[in-house]
Amino acid sequence: MSPADRRSRRACVDTLYRQAPNSFAAATVVTVYMVITAWPYTPRLVILAWLGVQLTSQVLRGALIIGYRAAGETAHVERWNRAYTLYLGLAGLVWGSCAFLFVHTEAPISVALTLCGVYGISSGSIPGNAYNPPGVYLFVGGIFAAVLVRMLEIGDVAHVTLGIASFGFSIILILFTRVQHRTIVENFRIRFENAELLEQLRLEKANADAAREKAEQASLAKSQFLAAASHDLRQPLYALSLFSSTLQTLRLDAQAQSVVAKIHHNIAALESLFNALLDISRLDAGVVRPQNEPVFVPDLFESLRHYGDGEGRGRVTLRLRPVERHVLADRALLARILGNLVSNALRYTPDGSVLVGCRREGPNRIRFDVWDNGIGIAPTDLPRIFEDFVQVGNPERDRQKGLGLGLAIARRTAELLGSGIAVRSWPGQGSVFSVSMPVAAPSRAVAAPAPAQLDVVAGLRLLVVDDEASIREGLTELLTAWGAEVDAVGDEAAALARIAAGERYDILLADYRLRDRRTGLDAISAVQAAQVPPPACCLVTGEIEARLLADVRERALPLLHKPVHPAKLRAVLNYLAMERPLARTEPVA
Ligand code: ADP
Repeated sequence: MSPADRRSRRACVDTLYRQAPNSFAAATVVTVYMVITAWPYTPRLVILAWLGVQLTSQVLRGALIIGYRAAGETAHVERWNRAYTLYLGLAGLVWGSCAFLFVHTEAPISVALTLCGVYGISSGSIPGNAYNPPGVYLFVGGIFAAVLVRMLEIGDVAHVTLGIASFGFSIILILFTRVQHRTIVENFRIRFENAELLEQLRLEKANADAAREKAEQASLAKSQFLAAASHDLRQPLYALSLFSSTLQTLRLDAQAQSVVAKIHHNIAALESLFNALLDISRLDAGVVRPQNEPVFVPDLFESLRHYGDGEGRGRVTLRLRPVERHVLADRALLARILGNLVSNALRYTPDGSVLVGCRREGPNRIRFDVWDNGIGIAPTDLPRIFEDFVQVGNPERDRQKGLGLGLAIARRTAELLGSGIAVRSWPGQGSVFSVSMPVAAPSRAVAAPAPAQLDVVAGLRLLVVDDEASIREGLTELLTAWGAEVDAVGDEAAALARIAAGERYDILLADYRLRDRRTGLDAISAVQAAQVPPPACCLVTGEIEARLLADVRERALPLLHKPVHPAKLRAVLNYLAMERPLARTEPVA
């Protein structure tokens, strides 16, 4: 017996006993009816004797009901079921005896009245007792066997026919009981099976939730570790990149130049892997907060143009079809998503074209579509391509073919901006990746200044504050190679000492994390207060805490993330020099 069958059996017996008081009420009504209808034709003593037996039988039923309730959960279901079956058999005999006691041939009405009573009690017993079919068989069978015997005993055609017809009726009642019982059991079984399934589902869901929570915690812990360790991890890479850039500015023989180029190339690869990993951890750790603003789509597309100029792009053309509208988004993050999709499209299109277009999506969104007619993606690979480190067709994991992190970062970034990335692809024919942003009203902000055209780093006087000697050394070498004059100090006090000694600087480059719990922000404030006019300042950091980013944003300071790419450093120095001409001690040639 399955657990559901066992439970439905128990439910049958429970219901049988629960509804027994109703049968008790019905029996009382029919008993009263029998006594009243028999009263004119039957000796009082016979009626009273039958009433006594009937009451005893009802008391017996009451005792059974009380006993079952008292036994509660511990009740042996089968035994109590059998007890009730026996009781019904006994009750059937008591009711059947009416055919002998209250049927008198000299008063034909007594036959009709008595049979009415037994028909009533037997049909009325079915709904309440169908939970126990053997009980019904005994009860109904007992009553109508008595009726049949009594009618045969009278012996005339009318009574014999009545007896046989009544017995036939009892068989119909029994068949009806069987069908009803089957339906009841089936209903119980389905109910308990559903309950079991629900319970199983609840357990499985609880297990899945626990596993998901654990995985999320592990992933968060990993992200938090990476985010926290990023300062220490970026530091040596930053120094390495500075030294290798300095090496490139030196006069070297051809062999040394080729080695330096290889070192530089590998550092760049390391930086790109590292940046991708840190990007993922920053996104997962929730420290990237989008700064939404109206972004003019043609400007956004213009920033994608350089992707089409890369090496080996000769046979693929990049076409940009912007709309003259604004979207509400974080300019830098959206540009990175689209840049990623465009560079993938170019990479996976050996020959043909890549088109970036726009479509209206619903009343207030614009969808950016990056179309290519490249190699396409098989339907089976489509769901996987957004997972971390998944690359299709690069089993040897050749790093030149990418890292398999681009789409993972793009997807997370798009989610941060409130969009998914949709993809459709046709193997051998091409793909389209789409991301959508809400339409925005144009901003009233003044246009950003045109980027500096001149390189004015040579001749700048720079003050570097960094507690790490290797970084000071690397920066000094690189900046000197670019023609700047550099003073590099380890802390704020040393910086102030230089200024007190009469030194003046155009630009201060301060590392965020300094010794003795001081920060680059402290150093910048102190130097800005000490030197008149103050130098232009830039903070360099390996930290990615949201709080720091917010502080920097509030003070409108340029921020460079370690490892700083030398080209970016040079661009920022140029920008600062152009922005703060008053701070310059010497005119730019
Ligand atoms: P990867 O660094 O390998 O490009 P991505 O996460 O950017 O990593 O992409 C994952 C995989 O998706 C790629 O290995 C490539 O197989 C597939 N893919 C992405 N964009 C395209 C595209 N435009 N056409 C064909 N395949 C693509």
